[in-house]
Amino acid sequence: MTQFLALLLRNRLAAAGGIVLLVVVVLAVLTPVLPLANPDATDTANRFQPALSRAHLLGTDHLGRDLLSRLLWGTRLSLAVGFAAAIFAATLGAAIGIIAGYFGGRTDNLIMRGVDMLMAFPYILLALAIVAALGPGLGNALIAVAAVNIPFFARNIRGVTVGLAHKEFVDAARLSGLGHGRIILTEILPNVVPVIVIAMSTTIGWMILETAGLSFLGLGSQPPQADLGSMLGEARSALITNPLTSIVPGAMILVIVMGINLLGDGVRDALDPRLRSGALTRPMPATRVDRPTPPPAETEEGGAVLALSDLQTQFHVKKRVYKAVGGASLAVRPGECLGIIGESGSGKSVTALSVMGLVASPPGVITAGAARYDGQDLIGARYETLRRLRGDRIAYIFQDPLATLHPLYKVGDQLVEAIRCHRTVSKAEAWQRAIDLLKQVRIPNAESRASSFPHEMSGGMRQRVGIAMAMANDPDVIIADEPTTALDVTVQAQILSLLNDLRRERGLAIVFITHDFGVVGQLCDRIAVMYAGRIVEQGPTEAILTTPAHPYTRRLIACVPELGEGRRKLEAIPGLPPAVDRLDPGCAFAPRCEKARAACLTGEIALAGSGQRAVRCLFPETEIPSEQSA
Ligand code: ADP
Ligand code: MG
Repeated sequence: MTQFLALLLRNRLAAAGGIVLLVVVVLAVLTPVLPLANPDATDTANRFQPALSRAHLLGTDHLGRDLLSRLLWGTRLSLAVGFAAAIFAATLGAAIGIIAGYFGGRTDNLIMRGVDMLMAFPYILLALAIVAALGPGLGNALIAVAAVNIPFFARNIRGVTVGLAHKEFVDAARLSGLGHGRIILTEILPNVVPVIVIAMSTTIGWMILETAGLSFLGLGSQPPQADLGSMLGEARSALITNPLTSIVPGAMILVIVMGINLLGDGVRDALDPRLRSGALTRPMPATRVDRPTPPPAETEEGGAVLALSDLQTQFHVKKRVYKAVGGASLAVRPGECLGIIGESGSGKSVTALSVMGLVASPPGVITAGAARYDGQDLIGARYETLRRLRGDRIAYIFQDPLATLHPLYKVGDQLVEAIRCHRTVSKAEAWQRAIDLLKQVRIPNAESRASSFPHEMSGGMRQRVGIAMAMANDPDVIIADEPTTALDVTVQAQILSLLNDLRRERGLAIVFITHDFGVVGQLCDRIAVMYAGRIVEQGPTEAILTTPAHPYTRRLIACVPELGEGRRKLEAIPGLPPAVDRLDPGCAFAPRCEKARAACLTGEIALAGSGQRAVRCLFPETEIPSEQSA
């Protein structure tokens, strides 16, 4: 709620609209106690008095009635009718929409066709027809205005409800034995209330105008009772000779409707969670780079195709700075597989995405370091350069193949697109290549499978397609971000051996991200262990698995169950990884480490050791010789 208000007030226009509206509403509420003349007392001797005349602040109208008094009483009435109509229309419309959307099928059809029929008439004509049938009067005008707005609410709310009615949480409520009424009240309604409020806040202004329109035509409030519309209607004949009588109610209508609309837009923006998280701000084509210090001079990485040096990526969200990656240095050579391992949230994905500038900006910013592909620094490279390399020289495989494949295109076509985006080859050639790729990733019946849609394939098959797509342009480096996490163990083993074969056959360099120590042993030559955005240990897979040096690595390995090892107590690591916006100096793992001492919490702890094997710990489990011949 406070967040909502803060967002609303930050929107200057909405705040201005809200303040204007608040003043008008307070005046309207206070009208009965203000020292005003009787709004209906005529005094024909003092017709059309100018403003600021004696006893009449805004002058008088054609019957000598006090304009200020009539204006305030009229505003009060117009606001009341407008709000009442809006609430009436919203309640009824939402009820209709929820019922139609929730039950669907014939109920939906019947209700919505009725609503469509109402919507086929022009608003004001329909309102006129309803008032004509019911007879003039403010109450009937209210009913007419509410009635013509019901279809708008019904349509909106039905659309939202249809989307919700088949969500898992509604199914779960059904399975737990709740009746339709309870489900609608406790599951559906809370989810549509924001939509109702938004629809209301943007239509109240319109409803006040419509009511004023009916009153203007003499079908709403009846004399001598004043509302803004009837005041305008009565002043019409004196528009030229005494414009004041028209201007006063006209200006009030303008102020009210503008205030409501500005506030309504603000409410809509503040209530929409997607707008709040910045989904409508267009992300930049590549991650923003803001390196105050120039990247370190190129160091000899021993023939690495991809080398990160001290890469730092942060997320700047409002005043908070999340240091997702706080200085990662890695290198991978052709034909080599480097594993990056760490708990969820340790910064593995952000590291991987930073390489090609794929971290969304805003809020992502790369603040230091370099990522060199074949000696060329990719951080801060021109977008065209990055685009040429993306998917061509450096390709990605992501965790969820269903989310990365387009649901409406055949997988063959998607492969063709990936190929033709970097090569000028004919469609037929590309299709043939797509089939070859599918064969390479060991998809049976590749020819017919190329014409399948992603949803027609199993999870393992889809991930194979994902790998085929990454292989489409024969890249030098594949960055695989937890590619097997969503798969069962047998398929996982197949995918791992497939990646292994591909790298042996083609000299492919693989950066393999996982949180599973069981997986790295099968594929990776070297491992980098990541914690809170930093590499805490690095070395050959064998060495790390047998003699882990960092307490964190040891505890991670101890969490892996092993078959055939008999009963063994699996030790979970107590505590949680730290929040990366409040990193204390010293070792980030210290609060969860039983070996931590006071020294661990002061100052920077360097990654000590040779290039091959290194650990960032003051009290490692095993001593690492500081200069080991590689
Ligand atoms: P993982 O190691 O599981 O792949 P990530 O690299 O996805 O972890 O995330 C690293 C850290 O960055 C996490 O603490 C996460 O909360 C933070 N983070 C990721 N994306 C954003 C974002 N858009 N805004 C703020 N923080 C983010
Ligand atoms: Mg991740």
